[in-house]
Amino acid sequence: MASYNVDERGYYGEFGGAYIPEMLYPNVEELRQNYLKITAEPGFKAEFDQLLKDYVGRPSPLYFAKRLSEKYNTKIYLKREDLNHTGAHKINNTIGQILVAKKLGKSRIIAETGAGQHGVATATVCALMGMECIVYMGEIDIKRQAPNVARMKMLGAEVRPALSGSRTLKDATNEAIRDWINNPVDTHYIIGSAIGPHPYPDMVTRFQSIISEEIKWQLKEHEGRENPDYVVACIGGGSNAAGTYYHFLHEPEVGIIAVEAAGKGVNSGHSAATSKLGKVGVIHGCKTLLMQSPDGQITEPYSISAGLDYPGVGPMHSHLATSGRGEFYSITDDDAMKAGYELAQMEGIIPAIETSHALAVLKEKKFKPEDIVIICLSGRGDKDLETYIDYFKL
Ligand SMILES: *Cc1c(COP(=O)(O)O)cnc(C)c1O
Repeated sequence: MASYNVDERGYYGEFGGAYIPEMLYPNVEELRQNYLKITAEPGFKAEFDQLLKDYVGRPSPLYFAKRLSEKYNTKIYLKREDLNHTGAHKINNTIGQILVAKKLGKSRIIAETGAGQHGVATATVCALMGMECIVYMGEIDIKRQAPNVARMKMLGAEVRPALSGSRTLKDATNEAIRDWINNPVDTHYIIGSAIGPHPYPDMVTRFQSIISEEIKWQLKEHEGRENPDYVVACIGGGSNAAGTYYHFLHEPEVGIIAVEAAGKGVNSGHSAATSKLGKVGVIHGCKTLLMQSPDGQITEPYSISAGLDYPGVGPMHSHLATSGRGEFYSITDDDAMKAGYELAQMEGIIPAIETSHALAVLKEKKFKPEDIVIICLSGRGDKDLETYIDYFKL
């Protein structure tokens, strides 16, 4: 049977690997040689599980959405990652990585952030562990995302502006990499999605795989079976999706549905639909599908949702797309916003706009009445209220 997990060389099919500057090799190699050993230790697992339970609030509920199910004439369950501490799935990964950093004897954490969500999740676990935290953020993003900058500062992190290039996420990532090269001994770099050089995509996927691990026993309680007919998730870099799919990747009866941001339309020139528009290239240290010009310059992505506004996609998802194991949809800003509004009105849940993209699949695909469809509710909409207010003139 085909494998959709990472292989020993760090590849998912033809995607993945570690395309990094020579000077970063020792840092990444230390992590590669140790991450599986560390995370398999009983002491590590016990501490990780305890924090997920008592600090994050796991297990997150698997909620049967009755009114939504009636409307779409199929059985819809929502995996409530929005109820996690800090409001999204990102905390599952930052807790895992900070525990790995501790075991590696690191005392200083760095991270990059675009909209600030990963920065906040990283600052949170650094406060929890009493570790120094430096978050690199583009100067433009610092201006655009003031509330998250304030949160990071309140949590004790130092927010360092990236002043070069377009002064956004890409430049923040470059600054973080430069920092790591200069501080290889005491510093761990917490990457926020299922991207980056091997072993990051696999490590992040494993930490997020708690999502599908819980879905299995929760669905068994609800429906008497572990496997749904479909699992659905939105994809920025692909960490909530990787976690939602993980325990179903090799269950052929479970359909895998991935939802990208089409922005103003796939062919509008303002889009982030990487599986449709991307070509094989290298971004953030891995070979993957990437939106780029014919001469290989990365194209500026666009989405109304900051978390999906990314020109690449994690290597696992590039493989799911090209192998046909995953079914990919691109959802426009307008359709996502309507789906988010509908969830609020029909179920009393205001989702993050990233998540609204996943919900919009219900209008795109006709499911059978007996199908069980699980949608990962990756985050809550508090952070997006202003965007909803502007859009719907609330
Ligand atoms: C960051 C974020 C995403 C996108 O990131 P992935 O790594 O693709 O999961 C999706 N939803 C929410 C709520 C987010 O905060």
